[in-house]
Amino acid sequence: MTFIIYSDKYLLHDDPSHPENASRLAAIMELLEKMPFYEKLKFVEPESIQESEMAEVHSSEMIENAKRTGWLDMDTYTNEYSYEVAKLAAGGVKKACEIVMERGGNAFALVRPPGHHATSTRSMGFCLFNNVAIAAHYSAKRGRKVLIFDHDVHHGNGTQDIFYERSDVMYQSIHLSPHYPGTGSVMEVGKGEGEGYTVNLPLPHGVGDDCIMEAMEEVFIPVAREFSPDLIIISAGFDSHHADPLGGMNLSLSIYARIIQEFSRVQSRMVCSLEGGYNLTYLARGVAVEIGEMCGMPALFDDSAEGRKCSGEIKELKGEMEKYWNMR
Ligand SMILES: [Zn+2]
Repeated sequence: MTFIIYSDKYLLHDDPSHPENASRLAAIMELLEKMPFYEKLKFVEPESIQESEMAEVHSSEMIENAKRTGWLDMDTYTNEYSYEVAKLAAGGVKKACEIVMERGGNAFALVRPPGHHATSTRSMGFCLFNNVAIAAHYSAKRGRKVLIFDHDVHHGNGTQDIFYERSDVMYQSIHLSPHYPGTGSVMEVGKGEGEGYTVNLPLPHGVGDDCIMEAMEEVFIPVAREFSPDLIIISAGFDSHHADPLGGMNLSLSIYARIIQEFSRVQSRMVCSLEGGYNLTYLARGVAVEIGEMCGMPALFDDSAEGRKCSGEIKELKGEMEKYWNMR
């Protein structure tokens, strides 16, 4: 069963002049309704996260600050609804994790605002709170090992930060480098207890599907298998697609299906959580491709891109990871 967490309330956090605006989710819903798998999906209403649960991941100063209306940093806006919407977004991902752990299957949390840049102390990069981190922490506290794979074009500095010294939540990321927010080097592997549990593959401009496939085969999947998670959360950012205005990678839609396919073989209990993606057409199609793969009715769109390989970068990461994992 594939569950979709969604609420119209996610549209209330909005600034039409900002790339991260409500039309993103509207475009996704409009396309999903036309997909042949639409009738198969089980829609679930999210519930707000409690402030006390948020406080286990974020500082109380940060939570208080997010109640303000205006700009939290240079590119992170709030309106009068944003705080409540952000709590509903974190609660939505938590709910997706609960459902999948209880009933099996998979879920896509169609939430806004996104979360992966929000650190333990700071809202930033369009993100108020770290939806995925809050949900992963909640699941980990209940004895689950959680793997987060982040395919947004930007590094999820916030998620990395929150779990940097922990071994119960692994963070894996592909991202463009140099690019916002500037973190995510191969050498950032975690610290103390968490050493080896952060896996970063920074990539140059123009890499394509072959690069990501090889990276999954050579590093991400072998490490994931060895880690053996009880739950996989995908930080699903579609600004890594070749048509994205904020991107710089050359990925085609089909890579998103392959990512779901590969990680589903490691653990079928999977939750995708919406992060970035600013070309509305390809954002919606990217989501449709992932949901299609999750529910066993693949969505096909005419799309291709010529991208570079990245064998050198993969080799470097593999060398780093071999210190911690057998990589078989
Ligand atoms: Zn992004």
